This record gives sequence, C-alpha cells and structure tokens, in this order.
Amino acid sequence: MTPIPWNERPGLCGPCGGECCRTRPGAEAPERFLAAADPAAALGAALASGDWVLAEHVGLPWVDGRPPPPEETRRILHYPRPATVAERGRGKAAPGGEPSPCVFLDPHGCRLAFEERPRMCQALEPAGDGECIASWDRRSAALAWLPWQGLVAEAAARATPRRSTGSDRARAAGQAFTARAMRGTPRRARRRSSAVSGESPPRRPRDRRPR
Ligand code: SF4
Repeated sequence: MTPIPWNERPGLCGPCGGECCRTRPGAEAPERFLAAADPAAALGAALASGDWVLAEHVGLPWVDGRPPPPEETRRILHYPRPATVAERGRGKAAPGGEPSPCVFLDPHGCRLAFEERPRMCQALEPAGDGECIASWDRRSAALAWLPWQGLVAEAAARATPRRSTGSDRARAAGQAFTARAMRGTPRRARRRSSAVSGESPPRRPRDRRPR
C-alpha cells in the first residue's frame, strides 16, 4: 500500500476546528492489523480497548462503473475506525455522524502522529470552503475490507465477552432450583445435603451489634 505523504493544512483545519474529527472519524485500511502476527487478535484488542469500533457499509460498492450483483446490494460490510467519545461509552458505532469527537482528538488536534492515523484521515485533503475530499474514503474501506470480513468477524467475537451458552443457562437454572429447594429444607437435612454436594453450608451473617 502506497504511503500517503504528509498533507496537514493547519491554516485550514485550525479555523474549522476539525468538523470531521468532531463527528465521524476516518476509516482505517486493513494493513495496520494485517501487519500484526495475529491480525484478528490485533483488531480484537483494538475493539476491546473501546477506542475503535466497527462501522457498517451497506451494499457492495460499485467498481469501475459497474453495480454489484443484486444479491450483494444490501450486504453489510464492516470496517474499523476510531470511536467517538459517545461510541466508546456505548461500545457500538453510530449509523451516521453524530456530534461527538473522535477519541483521539484533543484541544490541539489529533493526538496521533500523521503516519499513525487511519488511512482515510491521512487521505483527507482539506479545502477552504469546507468541501474536503478524501481520495481514500468509506467506499474504499468497504472494498479493502471485503476479503477480510471473516477476520473482522473473528476479531469482533474475540473482543466480545463470552456469551452464555445453553449449558451455562442450564447450570444457572440448576443452581437456582437447588437454592429454592434448599430454602424449603430443614437445617439438619441442609447440612447433609451440603456435605453430599461438597459445598459449604450457607452461613448466617455475624451479629455485629455491640454487646
Ligand atoms: S484519528 Fe485523528 S485525524 Fe482521524 S478523526 Fe480522529 S482525531 Fe481526526
């Protein structure tokens, strides 16, 4: 992937205050994560940190003026980008832009060095009239991540706390049933039952009143 040369325009972005950084952070290319020994783990760790989220692109983009096959026009493609502060709290990307700053934005601008920023942020060409254009945009991100959707799904699964399984639920239901049954069991029988199950009998709370 060809590196994007430094193209900051503080004279334009300063007065604007970074409208893009305050509403919708730029998309990242796969290479940042593919460079890691375990790309799914690297992306999973980024997502788990809360500083990155998976954004959605609906439909396979057109390529060379040709539309995608009909069955691909509603396909959801995921790609990573930095979270906004609001998204970090929710742990989920907002469907569109929202008035919340990128987690990497501080009062003096982007905290990341130019070469560490997402590719779309690097590719943004600021314009005085506010009509800034990125030569590598969300459409580019959807196409770049298209072959890596399996890796993205694996990373998302690694970043998500383990969901309860059927056996977890059965175990929890069994424990709840045992607890209910124990509440209706005489004390002596309860001790025996605990000895059989190997669990300690429930203790009464200590009386902490002054004597
Ligand atoms: S990573 Fe930096 S340049 Fe990109 S949106 Fe966030 S603050 Fe702006």
